[in-house]
Amino acid sequence: MPYEIIVNRELCESNAECVSLAPAVFELDDEELCVVIDPEGAKDKRILDAARACPVDAITLIDPTGEQVWP
Ligand code: SF4
Repeated sequence: MPYEIIVNRELCESNAECVSLAPAVFELDDEELCVVIDPEGAKDKRILDAARACPVDAITLIDPTGEQVWP
């Protein structure tokens, strides 16, 4: 089951760390802010790595039981 992925665009600094680690999941939009394009575009471990790489903790991950996995 995929994580629910929530991006806080007010925190996003557009450095694309998440995009480089999981380009099928995250993308920068016309405003150069992160959006989720496919929450199932990578394995959970890779999505967790991408979220952990975000320098401003703008990516929140919720597992299927409703537990917050990150941050
Ligand atoms: S790593 Fe964080 S700050 Fe950088 S683009 Fe992704 S969400 Fe935004």
